[in-house]
Amino acid sequence: MQPDFRQPVFRFAPSPNGHLHLGHAYSALLNAEMARRSGGRFLLRIEDIDTTRCTEALVADCLEDLAWLGLAWEEPVLRQSAHFDRYRAAAARLEAEGLLYPCFCSRAEIAAAAGADPPRDPEGAPRYPGTCRQRPPDEIAALRAGGAAFALRLDSARAARRAGAPAWREQGGVPGATMPDIAAWGDVVLVRKEIPTSYHLAVVLDDAMQGVTHVVRGMDLFAQTAIHRLLQTLLGLPEPIYHHHPLIRDADGRKLAKSAASTPLRRLRGEGISPAAIRRHLGFEA
Ligand code: GLU
Repeated sequence: MQPDFRQPVFRFAPSPNGHLHLGHAYSALLNAEMARRSGGRFLLRIEDIDTTRCTEALVADCLEDLAWLGLAWEEPVLRQSAHFDRYRAAAARLEAEGLLYPCFCSRAEIAAAAGADPPRDPEGAPRYPGTCRQRPPDEIAALRAGGAAFALRLDSARAARRAGAPAWREQGGVPGATMPDIAAWGDVVLVRKEIPTSYHLAVVLDDAMQGVTHVVRGMDLFAQTAIHRLLQTLLGLPEPIYHHHPLIRDADGRKLAKSAASTPLRRLRGEGISPAAIRRHLGFEA
């Protein structure tokens, strides 16, 4: 399914579990710039599903930093923490289709089951060995009845059989980067033990609900797009165009570049650096 490309919609979607830094500034400015050039809309979405790490103070600081940079976005701002019911409903649908299974494993159990040299996912983390996929139904029922906490994982092989291997339209990327197969990710968590969703589920649902036509974000999320395209296909959601931009690295020469890419914007601001200097440094018009 295609979104309506006649009205381009861009979004910047930070997770305010820390302060925004230069890398965030680049991504936000690039989205705003691409929206401006295409006559499109620019949305801000606060990805605060992790309600313990994303505090109100950090959300307020995030909005303030972006406004200080000179960005303007449409109101109201979608905050994911207010949409848990919607994520629950989508997870229930996937579960009813037999595409999710409960996983009771702790981190330590996963590490122990994975062994010394486990197969790894595209980010280098050990791939989930599938322990709970093989659990007998009566054992699952007993664990559930006993109130054991569980996550819901995607049965990635079954999902791939259902959805095939969706392609994606990428306008950015970096040379040599190739789209991984979902099998490389294995059975990812779609609903966390303590949160009724995961980044993957919430991001595809919200991009669709907000009519996002262009997902512009850092290269660090490139490989994860394989999961997002699969979920979009399973849930019958539109396929946005993706543009993964290179990450801002600690750079060379110029004055501002003495700051690491991870330097919080508010520290630069405290050092007297202007928003115009930051925009110029990142390659945008001041
Ligand atoms: N919230 C994610 C992050 O801050 C980005 C989500 C996205 O752009 O898809 O890393």
